[in-house]
Amino acid sequence: MTDRVVQATARGDSGPAVAGLVASHTVDVPDFPQPGILFKDLTPLFADGDAFRDTVDAIVAYHGRDSFDVVVGIEARGFVIAAAVAYASGAGVVPVRKAGKLPRSTLSASYELEYGEATLELHADAFTAGQRVLVVDDVLATGGTAAATLDLVERAGGVLAGFSVLLELAFLKGRQRLASRPVHALLTV
Ligand code: AMP
Repeated sequence: MTDRVVQATARGDSGPAVAGLVASHTVDVPDFPQPGILFKDLTPLFADGDAFRDTVDAIVAYHGRDSFDVVVGIEARGFVIAAAVAYASGAGVVPVRKAGKLPRSTLSASYELEYGEATLELHADAFTAGQRVLVVDDVLATGGTAAATLDLVERAGGVLAGFSVLLELAFLKGRQRLASRPVHALLTV
């Protein structure tokens, strides 16, 4: 862990030091992308080499580098995290994308957004049978995106090894929505 200002009150599933690291590299943007949403901008974390490496290492350490074979990243910020976690652990990367982006046969899952509906897709042959899959994304809010993705992973024959996010918005109760699924959040606010 690099020497950084730690926000003593920060909490998360990998302890206060890495929680503080995420907190100190997150910028709150009010009313983006629409009025009433407090957007958690994690691009300052991605842009800081030491901080980014420490957060990626914390995800790998939490699960254990031999506990998964493939890392699924959710479009688009999840791709950044997935690629780094995969590289750090010797695993592969599989994208879950918004509808219409993947070129071959896909499985799809639709879910409700605050306004309207969204659809995510995964290549139907993304996994070999029994492959252990770690899913990563930047923010867990209501849990709709994660629930749809975890559903896709299991429908495609993957075995869920874990689900990690950098930041969890606890008041939106995503963890409860995922119920029996394992949730690992570096920072919970
Ligand atoms: P949800 O499906 O409600 O859990 O939303 C999670 C997805 O939406 C993630 O892929 C996040 O990148 C994005 N997201 C939702 N709310 C926020 C927020 N307040 N700040 C940043 N990203 C968010």
